[in-house]
Amino acid sequence: MDEHTAYLTFAHPNGIIEPHMDDNRTSFEPSPAPRILSSSDHLISREMIDPDALRIISRLHGQGFIAYLTGGGVRDLMLGKRPKDFDIVTNARPGQIKKRFPNAYVIGRRFRLVHIHVSGGRIIEASTFRRSLDRDEEEIAAADGHRMHIYGTPFEDAFRRDITINGLFYDPVMDAVVDYVGGVEDLAARKVRVIGDPAARFKEDPVRIWRVIRYAARLGFQVDESTEREIPSHIGLLAACSGARLFEELNKDLAYETQPVIEGLRKHRALGHILGRIGADYETDDALFSRLSVILDCADKAKAAGFPIPVEEMYALAFWPWAEPLLSDSKEDPHKTLKNALLDAQSRITLPRSIRANVVQMFIIVAALVRAVRTGRMRWSLLRRAHFDQAFRLFFMIEKCRFPENGESFETLYHQTHPSGDTARSRFPRHRLRKPKRQPESQS
Ligand code: ATP
Ligand code: MG
Repeated sequence: MDEHTAYLTFAHPNGIIEPHMDDNRTSFEPSPAPRILSSSDHLISREMIDPDALRIISRLHGQGFIAYLTGGGVRDLMLGKRPKDFDIVTNARPGQIKKRFPNAYVIGRRFRLVHIHVSGGRIIEASTFRRSLDRDEEEIAAADGHRMHIYGTPFEDAFRRDITINGLFYDPVMDAVVDYVGGVEDLAARKVRVIGDPAARFKEDPVRIWRVIRYAARLGFQVDESTEREIPSHIGLLAACSGARLFEELNKDLAYETQPVIEGLRKHRALGHILGRIGADYETDDALFSRLSVILDCADKAKAAGFPIPVEEMYALAFWPWAEPLLSDSKEDPHKTLKNALLDAQSRITLPRSIRANVVQMFIIVAALVRAVRTGRMRWSLLRRAHFDQAFRLFFMIEKCRFPENGESFETLYHQTHPSGDTARSRFPRHRLRKPKRQPESQS
């Protein structure tokens, strides 16, 4: 009995090592043995793991299933960082998972996942081991919606993932890390390496290039040479990805460490493919990009200090250095100028209309606040605009490079530079400065 078989037999006495064999495959290669790190070989501490995730895994184990933590959660645990979320993979099918947890809901049509609702309104995602399909199988599965094709073994599930450090499993019951893809070695060497052939994996899903750049930037890792070599010839494929998918990916970067990833995307000439003219301008104009970098860096510090910045405001911060000159140069109606410039930029990202409209509204107020501080002339009626609070936060971040703390208002800031200027209260009685109940601006 080799190390792998011994481990699985011990963990799963009823012998469910591979998934059910009802997936239409006529032949079945036994999986190669993974590298197993037992408790003494890794530094994962159970205190860092969500007790609800542990409870779910141990219930699945108790019922004879394999269940692991996976993905970014394991990567972060291995690095001694507290993970953002804990995803579970198991050989239990979605229906079998659902049956065992009263608050579980099966979601998704093609790739069915289970969302298990736990304390505090949180959701833990549990999915069944899957494999990547070849082109023929993809077609069949897409045509008849057949689901049984997609399930696979733990080995296949690890290999369908993007990069080795995201392809690890952790079994909290055995306190063991299960590595089929060389992720442990790459974590130690601080390398980001695509699983399998980088050219083929990039062609299959160009978003993986973005993900390579993201994790190298976030973790300060090197991109492995064989992966790096394939980036320039495949980077253009990003422009062909669906706008909704690109929007989702950018949201992930705007939510966490934004600046290093945007810098990585610029270094690899990806910004133009993602953001059209806006990205191309950030790529070619060093001064413009360094202004963006300063702003994003401040936003990252604010987020790390516990001031969450809504995604809409992050879009505004990310576009501000590009938009500001348009506002100061144009004699046209600023709404029109901004709206047209955003449309003309031909960003490949599908930015929802509401975000675009709100960003435009915020920009107009931010531009007015910048002017007021420079000239001493302030239109205090701006304080009544629906987007004033958001715009003030942006203005503050852009000017002061930090998040406004309690009690810091535009008035206090304005009076530091213009002590003799008039005040909101002298112009408008207090009751008129209250925010109107309905938002007056049209959602253009
Ligand atoms: P984080 O959430 O900290 O950014 P993550 O690795 O958990 O990191 P997710 O976007 O949440 O990132 O994805 C979860 C897991 O799904 C990844 O760790 C990876 O294993 C897999 N994955 C995500 N996107 C892809 C993709 N395009 N191709 C292959 N596998 C992917
Ligand atoms: Mg994740």
